[in-house]
Amino acid sequence: GKVGTGRRPPPARVRVAVRLRPFVDGAAGANEPPCVRGIDSCSLEVANWRNYQETLKYQFDAFYGERSSQQDIYAGSVQPILRHLLEGQNASVLAYGPTGAGKTHTMLGSPEQPGVIPRALMDLLQLTREEGAEGRPWDLSVTMSYLEIYQEKVLDLLDPASGDLVIREDCRGNILIPGLTQKPITSFSEFERHFLPASGNRTVGATRLNQRSSRSHAVLLVKVDQRERLAPFRQREGKLYLIDLAGSEDNRRTGNQGIRLKESGAINTSLFVLGKVVDALNQGLPRVPYRDSKLTRLLQDSLGGSAHSILIANIAPERRFYLDTVSALNFAARSKEVINRPFTNESLQLHALAPVKLSQKELLGPSEAKRARGPEEEEIGNPELTASAASASQKLSPLQKLSNMDPAMLERLLSLDRLLGSQGSQGTPLLNTPKRERMVLIKTVEEKDLEIERLKMKQKELEAKVLAQEALDPKEKENSLTVHRPLPRRTVTGAKPLKKAVVMPLQLIQEQAASPKTEIHILKKRGRKRKVESSQVSEPVEKASEDCWELQISPELLAHGRQKILDLLNKGSARDLRSLQRIGQKKAQLIVGWRELHGPFSQVEDLERVEGISGKQMESFLKVSVLPVVPALPARPCSNSSPLPCRRTS
Ligand code: ADP
Ligand code: MG
Repeated sequence: GKVGTGRRPPPARVRVAVRLRPFVDGAAGANEPPCVRGIDSCSLEVANWRNYQETLKYQFDAFYGERSSQQDIYAGSVQPILRHLLEGQNASVLAYGPTGAGKTHTMLGSPEQPGVIPRALMDLLQLTREEGAEGRPWDLSVTMSYLEIYQEKVLDLLDPASGDLVIREDCRGNILIPGLTQKPITSFSEFERHFLPASGNRTVGATRLNQRSSRSHAVLLVKVDQRERLAPFRQREGKLYLIDLAGSEDNRRTGNQGIRLKESGAINTSLFVLGKVVDALNQGLPRVPYRDSKLTRLLQDSLGGSAHSILIANIAPERRFYLDTVSALNFAARSKEVINRPFTNESLQLHALAPVKLSQKELLGPSEAKRARGPEEEEIGNPELTASAASASQKLSPLQKLSNMDPAMLERLLSLDRLLGSQGSQGTPLLNTPKRERMVLIKTVEEKDLEIERLKMKQKELEAKVLAQEALDPKEKENSLTVHRPLPRRTVTGAKPLKKAVVMPLQLIQEQAASPKTEIHILKKRGRKRKVESSQVSEPVEKASEDCWELQISPELLAHGRQKILDLLNKGSARDLRSLQRIGQKKAQLIVGWRELHGPFSQVEDLERVEGISGKQMESFLKVSVLPVVPALPARPCSNSSPLPCRRTS
């Protein structure tokens, strides 16, 4: 057993490094600007795809730019932890990131550029030779195992014939895999003799195997056993895990279907739980969910506790990687900073200042204010821009882009600001709120802004259509419904009486019972075909002459319904999510998983990006969620109503 552990230290943090690889598609790299670049040895910046006026800045324990060598990464982040193995402690090195971003290059490398695995093995073998030499107090031996976790199955790569292996925990809390091949190794060539064939099988086989390799976790375990040569003959064991993780890319986006989705679901379960484990460790949470996946269960005694762990997030500079890059960074970083400065070499438009003043310290975080630019930046960035960007961001409030927004909205924002101020915070509270919250607020306002713009456009369109329609067919006028007309007027019909029903979400029925305000939905009969549309942009005027059911929803209700779902998606637990239509345990977990990996949903449509939830499902989910259930006829049923055609879709 292990000795010398005395009192248990608090769980160790997982250190996080990011490595940006250089452009590899020669042609693309020549004229394509990077979408990510280094700032200094710990931070980098990425364009914000949601808002090109902003740049996202991330900070890590270490950042390795595109010119960093294999030796840089090894010496900077891996070598320092090896000595702990000889103290009987465990360690793990995990390469994370999308397929093609350099995980295997980092871990394995090539004969010309050996990566972490060969370097660590060389050093470890050297170290154990020295420490275990004749005459030294301890006798040391090294063994290796190599396994793969694929679809939550543990497979022995040194004995591919053996099936799924089980992970056990002994009474001292050590994790072990009974039956897993362990090969003693005394030299590097011996290591290679076992490792290369197994590894080669995994990475350079048929396309199918390649696919598999990017979807499975390759886990190399190197164990250092020590026996004391004299009494009391103590024993020590140190384990080192070197892991090439499955690709973190969003498989929905890469167009994988069917079985692939199932596979990636399993991968994402492990990656997702890994994220939660890292998160729990780094935040010092009381419960670390190791048992929720095979990978983390295996790493239970080597991640956290007294173990030394480093996660290397690999990212790529090409644009096609952009979303995966951001999601990998979000996975690896617990926090990021949003800087109000475009990432690209666009000239800055200096708008008039919003009537809110900010100190420079609020604009730029302390680290940001005095940050040193890396050499890479010098080359890529236009120095003029860098200077002008810096001075611009000193002058501009983060709200500057709001200066051309709807004055009513700005007024509301400012009154919110005042309200917060009256609630006891000091200074200009909205702007003094922690960056994160401030950004959320600003984002909300931006989204509202866009929404308003969209609605205005829609309204104009509809008005134009009504006019055109009226000009064409004055009779139809009576029947044509517009979204923006007050609803009561619609019920006044001319020659062709309409069959109508009012349908409300459940929660609205209750609200309405308290204050009978407005009719929210109108179902309009249009022939035999029963059709319910949840979208208010469904061109009601054009279709008015057709004959089927149509649902009109007021924009406010739609927004309200959407916001509710969005809140649920972003704040609800898996259990809460199950209260939604057609969301079972598995999908609820997928949703929670997606949220953990990618951050909050910015709109309900993001659901489509969650693996395992098809666009079609999402749409129907959206519909039935806006209209959760067809209630019994409401308080004021319209005359002439037929049995309600709207019901839960399933
Ligand atoms: P992953 O394992 O994450 O799918 P790879 O390690 O296979 O990605 O890298 C994809 C390609 O990019 C490979 O051709 C690899 O040699 C190359 N590559 C990755 N990182 C670097 C780097 N730091 N320098 C040069 N080439 C790299
Ligand atoms: Mg790889």
